[in-house]
Amino acid sequence: MFNLGFLYTPYVFSLMILKLRCAEYGFECDFSIEGEKNIELLEKLRAHFEEVHGIEYPIDAVIQMIVNRGHSLESIKK
Ligand SMILES: [Zn+2]
Repeated sequence: MFNLGFLYTPYVFSLMILKLRCAEYGFECDFSIEGEKNIELLEKLRAHFEEVHGIEYPIDAVIQMIVNRGHSLESIKK
């Protein structure tokens, strides 16, 4: 039995990493976060919008903004 898991690792890794730049969402701001594509990453962006820009978006709105940027979110949506 061969373990081929290592062959898939770079591919999976690239799918899992998402970089979000605040400037892409309409703010004059150089904040960016990069990390595993999951709901926690979106929560960090949402918290940044609230803390720095004083705008409280529901998490669903943040998800929609990122979908609108062309990101596929099947791994974020439960
Ligand atoms: Zn910002």
